[in-house]
Amino acid sequence: MSAKLIDGKAVAAAVRADCKKRVQSLQDRYGRTPGLAVIMVGDNPASEVYVRNKIGACRDVGIRSEKLLYPADVSQAEVIERIEALGSDPNTDGILVQLPLPKSFDIKTVLGAINAAKDVDGFHLYNVGGLVIGDTVFPPCTPYGVMCLLENENIEVAGANAVVVGASNIVGKPMALMLMQREATVSVCHARTRDLAEFTKLADILVVAAGQPNLITAPMVKEGATVIDVGINRLPNGKLVGDCDFAGVREKASYLTPVPGGVGPMTVTMLLVNTISSAERTLSQAPQEPTAEALRA
Ligand code: NAD
Repeated sequence: MSAKLIDGKAVAAAVRADCKKRVQSLQDRYGRTPGLAVIMVGDNPASEVYVRNKIGACRDVGIRSEKLLYPADVSQAEVIERIEALGSDPNTDGILVQLPLPKSFDIKTVLGAINAAKDVDGFHLYNVGGLVIGDTVFPPCTPYGVMCLLENENIEVAGANAVVVGASNIVGKPMALMLMQREATVSVCHARTRDLAEFTKLADILVVAAGQPNLITAPMVKEGATVIDVGINRLPNGKLVGDCDFAGVREKASYLTPVPGGVGPMTVTMLLVNTISSAERTLSQAPQEPTAEALRA
């Protein structure tokens, strides 16, 4: 068997086309453009690339975005003051703090300062709690993108054995919660898991987000499984690979995401979706101008 490769680029393009329409519809109905503020502290080159991609993606679908760049020695208090001001700015629908922050910052305090109703990354404790009880407001972007890919391929999640390799707050844990919400039977493995293959071999849906090239090889995969490779690793020769032995796993799985071109394009796309959803929620709840009919009554 040779797995069907899931084309994340194509799915992302379709979702972005829909984003464009939703932005246009907000402009037509409410005369307002959704807005995203991206806060970056210091000059981490990887973060610069990510932020540039996010700003570019916003521009492509018509979201207004602003990049707020602070030097690495800015005080945490100054950044928090700005985050709080954005929290009450009626033209800002999404606030994102690009991680990592300098070591002197307390990430929990900074993320906690984001207005939970604008927390488009979904990392605020309120939104994490919402995810746990199945009352999600902003699903974290990478696992949200994975769910979107599964849905797009009509892969049955309810009742499936799902194994998530990696237990980070950003990918593994929210991924497990989203799969559980969709009634999969979920196991979460991590660096201290004793026999990884014992778990992965049971998976109908295997999501790998460990950041270890070649961690998952063909003998660790169930025949016909769906394998979602979230990992992004740069090899010494410059090549970008995921966490799976791509050639080997491809012969065993029925679906597989390539790296690059699988989950990667979905992450920024779901940030656009969250920002637009935030604007739609806010604007649909805002008091409307009374119609002429209401004024006559
Ligand atoms: P992280 O370092 O925060 O967490 C890695 C997790 O993997 C930990 O829970 C760790 O215990 C586990 N792990 C590490 N080695 C393992 C092993 N040998 N066996 C089993 N588990 C092991 O990383 P993260 O932020 O969750 O990211 C994981 C990977 O996903 C990275 O390669 C990252 O670049 C990639 N990533 C991709 C996207 C995307 O858009 N495609 C987004 C976020 C992260």
